Amino acid sequence: PSVPDCDVAIIGAGPAGAAAAARLSQLGQRVHVIERSHFPRFSIGESLLPQSMAYLDAAGLLETVQAAGYQPKNGAAFTHRARTTTIDFRDKTTPGWGTTYQVERADFDQRLIHAAESYGATLEFGTTVSAFDADPERPTLQLDDEHGGTRRLSARFVLDASGYGRVLARLESLERDPRAEPRMAIFSHVADGIDEAAFDREKILIGVHPEDSGIWFWLIPFAEGRASVGVVGDIAALTAQGDTPEARWRALLDQEPRFRHLLRNAKRLREVGEIRGYAASVTRLHGPGYALLGNAGEFLDPVFSSGITIALHSAHLAAPLVDRQLRGGEVDWEDEFETPLRSGVETFRAFVEAWYAGTLQTIVFHEAPPPHFKRWISAVLAGYAWDHENPFVTASRRRLAALAEVCGHRDEVRS
Ligand code: FAD
Repeated sequence: PSVPDCDVAIIGAGPAGAAAAARLSQLGQRVHVIERSHFPRFSIGESLLPQSMAYLDAAGLLETVQAAGYQPKNGAAFTHRARTTTIDFRDKTTPGWGTTYQVERADFDQRLIHAAESYGATLEFGTTVSAFDADPERPTLQLDDEHGGTRRLSARFVLDASGYGRVLARLESLERDPRAEPRMAIFSHVADGIDEAAFDREKILIGVHPEDSGIWFWLIPFAEGRASVGVVGDIAALTAQGDTPEARWRALLDQEPRFRHLLRNAKRLREVGEIRGYAASVTRLHGPGYALLGNAGEFLDPVFSSGITIALHSAHLAAPLVDRQLRGGEVDWEDEFETPLRSGVETFRAFVEAWYAGTLQTIVFHEAPPPHFKRWISAVLAGYAWDHENPFVTASRRRLAALAEVCGHRDEVRS
């Protein structure tokens, strides 16, 4: 057969696509990345977890991230009514990174993809993947440029890292019900004006609405006095708060006393955005000649900032498998990719469900949970959801329910 246009075609230049492109280029594959937008571009998902540092390092992307001057992060603070608690990621059971960064994605994603380019990947912006011919040896994409032009691109393997674009999930009919309540997020960036000396910029602040524990807020401090501020909750509850995204965002922020106080001098820096129904799931993460990375496969919920860590983990698993397959080796995509990736995703799912059921909120807001238990939970919240030494990874649901009971959880706690 004729020579394919590239070895690996990657759809999407977000963190999953960039990490896969960097690693595969270093392994000697000819990688071509197709991205619909033009970078730098805004994206939501700005608080990393320490576990992601190991994947950035393995992909050769850590240096560029460390050189960027981002806001360091070492944990999470939680506030509900008058109570505030913290989790320090350095105090965890799993060995490895205990700190990371809070990043503006326009800059972060641009840095990662240009590092991938420096390793040899070729990039194409302003081009949309619109069709796919599955073929185990020669998968082919249809590419639409911004001037009405269309062409075909053949590869030896395709990685779909298209995030919310969900290109192959749609074209290959892999979508399934995500089994999550339809929630929405409303968010913006601010010059935060926080003048409280004791305010800890090295932690994401999560606030729970005083009257409705299904609604929560985030405050992610960045460098240079900027911050990301958002709120998540049931679609009907949030849309009832005002006629425009900005009116809703302002009304909700005013209802949480700690956020209202901290942000009293804040100046909005960009239009208020909204995303609805972001949870997504697929029947499988691989097929003949392709695999799905990051959000192009599964996305759960933003509450524990697991999205980029899962995206980078998927690229970390897939890249060496693609390389082996293209060198003639055998790969069992189910055993070596899908099953291990999903095991950590399921850990996060158990934590997300426990958060909305109220049990994890009871644990988090308890003034003194048993210390060793707290360190196991800290490890999962730091992103170590694949550490099978941790009982909160191997038996998440049972362990969380039992610990919540020890912490005095009653079902009526959820108001
Ligand atoms: P993306 O970053 O979405 O990149 C996909 C790229 O593919 C995009 O650049 C897109 O333009 C391109 N693309 C799409 N369709 C096509 C096409 N047809 N052709 C070519 N290119 C295409 N995660 C965290 O880790 N921390 C957080 O604090 C966090 N907060 C979040 C808050 C909210 C409200 C939401 C909804 C998500 C949050 N996330 C967070 C999740 C995070 O946004 C994603 O998990 C992450 O961006 C996934 O990376 P990715 O590389 O898979 O996809």
